[in-house]
Amino acid sequence: MTNAPITADAEAALLASVPNQLFIGGEWVDSTSGRSIAVTDPATGRTIATIADASPEDGVRAMDAAAAAQADWAATAPRVRGEILRRAFDLLQERADDFALLMTLEMGKPFAEARGEVTYGGEFLRWFSEEAVRISGRYGINPEGSGRMIVTHLPVGPSYLITPWNFPLAMATRKIAPALAAGCTAIVKPAELTPLTTLLFAKLLDDAGLPAGVLNVVTTSTASTVSEPILSDPRLRKLSFTGSTAVGVSLLKQAADGVLRTSMELGGNAPFIVFDDADLDKAVDGAMLAKFRNIGQACTAANRFIVHESVADEFARRVTEKVRALSVGRGTESGVTIGPLINEAAVAKANDLVSDAVSRGATVAIGGHAIDGEGTFYEPTVLTGVTAGSDILRNEIFGPVLSIIPFTDEADAVAKANDTEFGLVGYVFTENLARGQRLIESLQTGMMGLNVGVVSNAGAPFGGMKQSGIGREGGSEGIHEYLETKYVLTPNPFS
Ligand code: NAD
Repeated sequence: MTNAPITADAEAALLASVPNQLFIGGEWVDSTSGRSIAVTDPATGRTIATIADASPEDGVRAMDAAAAAQADWAATAPRVRGEILRRAFDLLQERADDFALLMTLEMGKPFAEARGEVTYGGEFLRWFSEEAVRISGRYGINPEGSGRMIVTHLPVGPSYLITPWNFPLAMATRKIAPALAAGCTAIVKPAELTPLTTLLFAKLLDDAGLPAGVLNVVTTSTASTVSEPILSDPRLRKLSFTGSTAVGVSLLKQAADGVLRTSMELGGNAPFIVFDDADLDKAVDGAMLAKFRNIGQACTAANRFIVHESVADEFARRVTEKVRALSVGRGTESGVTIGPLINEAAVAKANDLVSDAVSRGATVAIGGHAIDGEGTFYEPTVLTGVTAGSDILRNEIFGPVLSIIPFTDEADAVAKANDTEFGLVGYVFTENLARGQRLIESLQTGMMGLNVGVVSNAGAPFGGMKQSGIGREGGSEGIHEYLETKYVLTPNPFS
């Protein structure tokens, strides 16, 4: 399908193949609420599917199923768990175009980018299929010599996984794969705006041979009321959340009552620093990726372009030329590079942030408006001379707006970059090695791109400092979010 036009018939056939019920205990079941959720295509505003809207009782049913399956899944050989994940990886390659198209339809990203997300999201299945058999411990002599210490790692237990709408596949696999590899059962609650990809993925895991109850999916329009009985259930041992910092803070408070293990992947406000010694071609290419990938709707999206005053005009000129060449439209159309924003609220937010910046002295180099007509589109935009105090420097834009702030020297750049409560990722462009090394230590972010505009990959520990989160997903660190450490002391066998 990758090179062929996407037809209305192909869209309809795919949508008809997506389950529209809840997945609990290995069965597709109706919601006890009898209600449904309409899923819309943000490029057209039209309903593309109607799915079950779970009630709190359905949440409890999912918890029952996850708890019932926990002991057997933890006792399943790591190699068997890994092979199921590996089969899921293989099936995902076979069905890659279906998953990509589904994400384009429910979330809006251009098909080529959705294909990229299938690759990225799929890599978590492959990576954690390999990590499942590498959960190691250690054996040693205690300092006194009187005993032998054993340290081993055991699955935490049933886990509740809550995902956002912006990367419907990758945010799910980044949690599901390590949880299952570690031997934990799970309940997944995808975002109400983009639940279809998770439903299709649950079907794929079922086809890959995952035992009943190991993964359960509840889709709901009332996230808080459905989550409450799950979070307060003493059988739940872990909460992993990806979403906004405000919701993360409220979930952390709820999780405190059960002293749950928590992983929080929250909001960002990434600085993108261009020094006067940067290779500007590399910086401009990196900027286009860091800003316009996913229509600017990524937690890792560069939010503030902090550019040395001597190269700010030239950088602005070059990115504006690249932005002029972007093509806005429905993500199913060939050549489109910028799809719609997720909904009207996202367009209103972009509008407000741009208006505020302009009222405080910024200049619009290109774009700056919502696009009238069907769907929720916003023009790719470049703002120059954004001044301190502008809302756009404090808030996640989550849209295709690139704002440039000039700086004077390295200390000024670092101060501006760290002037935020967030600390997910930063991007630094410099050809000066020592400067790059200094920035690794002075930038208060969990991740940094040094002369690159995208950092994510399955082998890396993804996560933030400050209010961007707690814990890491991916890499060898990712599986430990789902493992308890158990220490055992035995006597010296020689005495
Ligand atoms: P959101 O916080 O509104 O929602 C995230 C998820 O939480 C959704 O499934 C939603 O239904 C659920 N939710 C909302 N309120 C809840 C409640 N009271 N109880 C239980 N669940 C609740 O975020 P969003 O708009 O879907 O996603 C965008 C945000 O996610 C941005 O802030 C972005 O930076 C962040 N994000 C972070 C990462 C990361 O890895 N750090 C990755 C992607 C997105």
